[in-house]
Amino acid sequence: MKELTFPGGVHPPYSKDISIREPLREAPLPSVAVVPLSQHIGSPNQAVVSKGDVVEEGQLIGSSPAFISAPVHSPISGTVKEIRKAFHPALGPVMSVVIERDKSKEAKDYTQEDVDAEALSPEQIIEKVKDAGIVGMGGAAFPTHVKLNVPEGKKIDTFIVNGAECEPYLTCDHVLMTRKTQEILKGIELIAKVLKPKDIYIGIENNKKAAFFAFQKAIKKATRKVLSDIHLVPLHTKYPQGGEKQLIQAISGREVPPGKLPLDIGFLVQNVGTINAVYEAVHMRKPLIERVVTISGDCINRPGNYLIRVGATIKDIIEQYGIELYRDPEKVIVGGPMMGFAQPTLEVSVLKSTSGILFLSENLAKTPPEEKCIRCAKCVDVCPVRLLPTELMNNVKNGNWPEVRELNVADCIECGSCAYICPSRIPLIQYIKEGKEVLVRKKMR
Ligand code: SF4
Ligand code: SF4
Repeated sequence: MKELTFPGGVHPPYSKDISIREPLREAPLPSVAVVPLSQHIGSPNQAVVSKGDVVEEGQLIGSSPAFISAPVHSPISGTVKEIRKAFHPALGPVMSVVIERDKSKEAKDYTQEDVDAEALSPEQIIEKVKDAGIVGMGGAAFPTHVKLNVPEGKKIDTFIVNGAECEPYLTCDHVLMTRKTQEILKGIELIAKVLKPKDIYIGIENNKKAAFFAFQKAIKKATRKVLSDIHLVPLHTKYPQGGEKQLIQAISGREVPPGKLPLDIGFLVQNVGTINAVYEAVHMRKPLIERVVTISGDCINRPGNYLIRVGATIKDIIEQYGIELYRDPEKVIVGGPMMGFAQPTLEVSVLKSTSGILFLSENLAKTPPEEKCIRCAKCVDVCPVRLLPTELMNNVKNGNWPEVRELNVADCIECGSCAYICPSRIPLIQYIKEGKEVLVRKKMR
């Protein structure tokens, strides 16, 4: 079968071997959970609990009346010790609920619920997704119920399941696809009931053969038409194939125009982790309180994939899971090495969108000093949205903000491919991010 892909992109060294063969480990419950009230794109939540309250696992602890928002739930049973600012991996300090676990209570068994999912209407499914606080788990953290609520006058023709997992090191989606194939298919069925798309595709890069074969087998055996009609497509391994617009282009050949959303051309993309969470919310009445996280890098023993509660801090994870740092990491990154965030502290919590925690030595993380641009245009060749990174950099450096806007800086998906390929090691993405931020501040977007 032909492997599909998009124009541009890069091939960072394959580093998935470190964690791919390890079993999925169920991590111990954290003794303390530090749960940021805002873990999504949109309005932050307000705490609905107070210091001293006793909370049950799965209980609502933060919500917002805003449409673009997603509630948060307690990942453990225990007592609210504090509501204070704590470190968020991307946003810095944000209000968080600190819960001390009641060690006498076991983890809740959600499989006991008996739910007739087939009887649910599309509206009821969306409501359950909303109540469970589901957000995009591939990194973007956009509230899923908002994405499923297709506005009047718009129609989704094509639903794409994102199994690309193009970031080096990360294997959490691969593991999920092989272990939870049936659950993901049931989640796809639920979303298909909401969207009623003409076509459903599952896109998986060719370095995840086990996941591909698991879906191939399951789809062949499926008796329901909605599942047996799914198109399973192999993708050429390339970064950033997991970007929504790149995945749409790889699979359909169609481009989402600048400034538009996939929805505007009839597409909707969901990550496999998000789809599994939809299954769990509807079939098991389970809110989004845990996720699979890849722990990897060249500084630790026991790399692998761990099922971790939201709110567990990296410091606790190292101490409680028997992870030994046998070498000082130069960088601790939350997310993948291309789009993740380097952390100044280990007192940072796992979020609904945390796909990985990487401990990288100087060998892997150190960037050589920046040199002069040699006008090789490699950055232009790899940009998946066909921007001109050098022109953007020069105009940002000179403060030519109208030109920065004209060069469509807002379309940059911050994939970092340009900076990665640059032989002069120019941190192009830093200049581009600065340009985006200035335009937002100046209200020029
Ligand atoms: S300009 Fe933006 S979208 Fe293009 S390669 Fe650089 S970071 Fe990626
Ligand atoms: S890749 Fe680097 S050196 Fe080459 S044109 Fe772009 S900024 Fe200049």
